[in-house]
Amino acid sequence: MAVPRVLVIPGDGIGPEVTDAAMYVLEKTLDMYGIDLEIRYAEAGDTAARKYGEPLPSETLRLAKNWADVVLKGPVGETARDVVVVLRRELGVYANIRPARSLPGVVSVAPIDLVIVRENLEDVYAGIEFSVPGAAFAVKVVTEEGTRRVARVAARYASSRSGRVTIVHKANVLRVADGLFRDVARRVLEEEGVAVDEMYVDAAAMEMVRNPSRFDVVLTMNQYGDILSDLAAQVAGGLGLAPSANIGDGKALFEPVHGAAWDIAGKGVANPTAMILSAAMMLEYLGYREAASRMELAVEQALAAGFTTPDLGGGLSTMDYARAVAKFIQ
Ligand code: ATP
Ligand code: MG
Repeated sequence: MAVPRVLVIPGDGIGPEVTDAAMYVLEKTLDMYGIDLEIRYAEAGDTAARKYGEPLPSETLRLAKNWADVVLKGPVGETARDVVVVLRRELGVYANIRPARSLPGVVSVAPIDLVIVRENLEDVYAGIEFSVPGAAFAVKVVTEEGTRRVARVAARYASSRSGRVTIVHKANVLRVADGLFRDVARRVLEEEGVAVDEMYVDAAAMEMVRNPSRFDVVLTMNQYGDILSDLAAQVAGGLGLAPSANIGDGKALFEPVHGAAWDIAGKGVANPTAMILSAAMMLEYLGYREAASRMELAVEQALAAGFTTPDLGGGLSTMDYARAVAKFIQ
């Protein structure tokens, strides 16, 4: 197999710190399993915008599109929209995968272990907005093909888990748009032999706090998924823990759910868990299952042993925590 090419974009705020920490744990894992990756770094975000006059420099976009097999990206600040939305569209990564799961030693609101599969390119985030005097409009875009392909990803995830998918929508109000999503998604999932149920998004938000273990794989539209995945992340124990993958037919992009967190940037106190787990999802995607599980297990072991950063009540710096995690990789 050709050596996989990984483009690393550290991003803004706490991005460079959590990236350093995650790369430290990743390198240790690669050594341990004798895995070879070709790694390059590129800039994007607020800092890049100040330096080059554009948040997503053309060289970064070129590397992501034409050189890299996968992108590992840190958080981006104010310019997130210009970076993430463009990268997602240019790379055609139509499915956003956000697992939320209780971790040992971390206080969660309720036991949770679910994966949100969110449609990533359509819905009201497709970018079709306009105004006329006195009124503004955002168009909710739902296509059959866009729904079909993300539903297939949900089916794939379901088959590697309990095999159940909950479609989350609001088809009682948005009968045409959400109705299409619901109908097409249901048909695909049933064809794939997956057990399906469905829930309105408001009810799903309530259930995700009240009884999250009711969910296994949640398949939903772009905006609902955006909101529900922050909620699920917090139920599991906080934004600092939540990784994500953006998957398409050729490329994939991995990033923590959290933002740039400028309030704690440069202090060496950020929790790099979300970034480490994003790197683990990347390894899994590249086919290195065992190495990916080892990384996840190392995080669990470190947390269970009480190694934590200040957001979780501990006293470790970002790098000390990464070193503690890396010690469990052997
Ligand atoms: P953005 O505008 O990009 O969303 P933000 O500053 O709102 O960035 P978020 O990631 O949304 O940052 O997080 C909100 C708050 O949660 C942060 O201000 C920070 O205090 C905390 N936080 C987020 N991520 C982490 C992390 N990895 N480690 C520790 N604290 C975090
Ligand atoms: Mg935020």
